[in-house]
Amino acid sequence: MAALLAAAGAASAAAPATTSAAPATPKQPDITAQQAQISKILGEVSQQRIEGHIRKLVSFGTRHTMSETESPTRGIGAARRWIKAELERCGAGTPLQVTYDSHVAPVSARITKPTEIVNVVATLPGTQAASKERMYVVSGHYDSRASDVMDATSDAPGANDDASGTAAIMELACVMAKYKFDATLVFMAVAAEEQGLIGARHWAVGAREKNWNVAGMFTNDIIGSSKGDDGKVDNKQVRLFAQSIPATKEMSEAVRQLVATGGENDSLSRQLARHTKEQGERYVKGFKVSVIQRHDRYLRGGDHMPFLEQGYAALRFTEPAEDFSHQHQDLRTENGKVYGDTIDHVDFDYIAKVTRVNGAAMASLALAPAAPQEVKLRTAALTNDSTLVWKANGEPDLAGYRIVWRDTTSANWEGSKWVGNVTEATLDLSKDNVFFGVQAVDKDGNVSVATYPLPLR
Ligand SMILES: [Zn+2]
Repeated sequence: MAALLAAAGAASAAAPATTSAAPATPKQPDITAQQAQISKILGEVSQQRIEGHIRKLVSFGTRHTMSETESPTRGIGAARRWIKAELERCGAGTPLQVTYDSHVAPVSARITKPTEIVNVVATLPGTQAASKERMYVVSGHYDSRASDVMDATSDAPGANDDASGTAAIMELACVMAKYKFDATLVFMAVAAEEQGLIGARHWAVGAREKNWNVAGMFTNDIIGSSKGDDGKVDNKQVRLFAQSIPATKEMSEAVRQLVATGGENDSLSRQLARHTKEQGERYVKGFKVSVIQRHDRYLRGGDHMPFLEQGYAALRFTEPAEDFSHQHQDLRTENGKVYGDTIDHVDFDYIAKVTRVNGAAMASLALAPAAPQEVKLRTAALTNDSTLVWKANGEPDLAGYRIVWRDTTSANWEGSKWVGNVTEATLDLSKDNVFFGVQAVDKDGNVSVATYPLPLR
């Protein structure tokens, strides 16, 4: 296979102008089959372990960011020491690296005294030289709050918000550490979400400063209950919030080019959401990934936002209908109504399903090649067909490329054409009427996220 690919590469380099000069297109790998490794991982995700993690997190009483750190049993210090120890225990004998990402946050709107903010970060290094610098991040926040966001002493069990997301990423880290992936996976229990996304921002800003290739990020925040405030149970879907373009005063050049070609629905995050929906629904049968075309719930936010601010693709998972009497509330009963984020309102089976959706997305992304780079549509001549060009990927197990398209009013890809291991292809479809994307495919049938083509003049 390697010799054939090398020959194809040489031939297309000698005659790059047309696909017809390239050798016979190699057969497309089966991209619809379930990968055995992914199915195995999702089968290992344990509802019982997730429940155990949530019970333990709730037992710390409060995990408020400014709560006490010395006690072995109460407060955020005890919580993070337990998370780190648990990840180290389950990752023993695997390459999983567990560290604290710590800094002291100065006084700010929701921080009354300089406070040490500590993320617990478990990294599973990629095993393919060409892919290990590419990383995917999945997070949950382990801090919690009561009614008053500054109240660091009252009980704040945070069973749903966000022990649910923290338990999910811990379970994924423990299960996935036993497997090999081309790209690097980062599992993060983040602090100070409730105090202004401080922990996530510290990591995301650092990643950008170090020029890290964070190819996708998922926050799991409030994934714990399938019952809405109307009492209806909906355990068949999860919401996935995906940003179009950022609400900044000035447009970056990348955003300007998207808008100039009608590509507002083809941002990095929307492409990641399409991939996640496809893979999540492929592996978690009967469960829908409902993409919401917004960065978050109306005027609200989460730990994916600091990643979006740094220009990374980042998404938020949240249950279908939140019950606000069990979120950000002191534990109390008022007029017969019970308030508080307690464990009796959490659905462990539902959390396990959302965890599996995350696992399918993370595993498929880290097994697949990188999304193609420098994808362009030729525009020098006015034509009714479309010629796409792109830079060759560098992975040794690359099989070739697939062009996908959809109607301009459609959310998801509707058509596709396998074009083989080339860097240019012409389709008899007008770029005026559809949106295109180019995906890289490896020989095992793992498919990358699609890349939106920008104009090549
Ligand atoms: Zn939250």
